Amino acid sequence: MVGLVGCTEEPVYHSSFFAFGTLVELTVRSADRDRVQQAEALLVREFEAMHQALTLHTDSPLLRLNQVLETGGTAVADALVLELIRVSRPYYQRSGGLFNPALGRLVREWGFHEEDGGAVPTPERLQAYVTNPPGMEHLLVEGTQVYSTHAALWLDFGGIAKGYALEQLGDRLREMGLRQLILNAGGDLRVLGRNGARAWCVGIRDPRQVGQVIASVAVEDDESVFTSGDYERYFMQAGVRYHHILDPKTARPATGVTSVTVIHRQATLADAAATAIFVAGLEGWQRVSAALGVEQVMLVDEQGRMHATPAMRARLLRGVCEGELQ
Ligand code: ADP
Ligand code: MG
Repeated sequence: MVGLVGCTEEPVYHSSFFAFGTLVELTVRSADRDRVQQAEALLVREFEAMHQALTLHTDSPLLRLNQVLETGGTAVADALVLELIRVSRPYYQRSGGLFNPALGRLVREWGFHEEDGGAVPTPERLQAYVTNPPGMEHLLVEGTQVYSTHAALWLDFGGIAKGYALEQLGDRLREMGLRQLILNAGGDLRVLGRNGARAWCVGIRDPRQVGQVIASVAVEDDESVFTSGDYERYFMQAGVRYHHILDPKTARPATGVTSVTVIHRQATLADAAATAIFVAGLEGWQRVSAALGVEQVMLVDEQGRMHATPAMRARLLRGVCEGELQ
């Protein structure tokens, strides 16, 4: 934890640690150093617990649940998984199935649950998902028991878990009395309050120029900024980039878009929406944004052109707020 003391405002503390498979950073203005330290300990603990519960990269309760579902069995889900199922369903429905956390087995077949590499599944395997895709309607919940009526259904909350985590943990930090902060998990972030006299200012990554900012935005109290990009997790094969956001209609990586940014007061919705809008692509992004109720959306297409809703365009204050890359 590093502290910076200004002259009149409360000092800024900055801490970072690796959790949730990504770099988590807390930037907070507070006069109470001990409280900031407690907050940091809480974040480390809670992010780690969520990661252990939800990872599909190693053995986990969710991986074992998926294996039971696959054999047609009934599994008991823990509270976090039940909550994520409940929270995901309306986003699945409103996005017309483009946000689909039941696609975990397909994500696995592409190799995105492995740390490196990946391979294009055979056309027959892909066709099986196109013909008969697993969806949330195939997942039945009774109390804490879960079972599936589709043999290829695996739950994968990779498109929403970070949003849920930032929503829950941001609330916890506020309850601890921290009111001016940015909580950033790998470039997706939630903001509380202001940066002293100014708004917190954040940079949105240029999807094709590592370390460059494509736009900056002054983020208001209790807003979250989520970006889904084809640069986060991908492999190259014969010069083609295969990334981890899959289009349920083709069973392949979604095309047309390189990044989507959503600003919304609910971090969970911002996360799910960024994934769904990415899949919707250039033809569908406005329709899916409206269906999900998100008004502030920006996307970058494969030609590097930026598109934004009117509400988002008004906020892209390039030059006015000098956002650092988060
Ligand atoms: P990031 O913020 O890492 O760019 P997203 O929030 O878009 O990513 O989530 C991508 C992850 O979501 C994938 O790694 C996979 O686990 C899962 N996923 C892939 N395709 C979909 C989809 N169509 N709907 C829901 N989740 C998906
Ligand atoms: Mg997402």
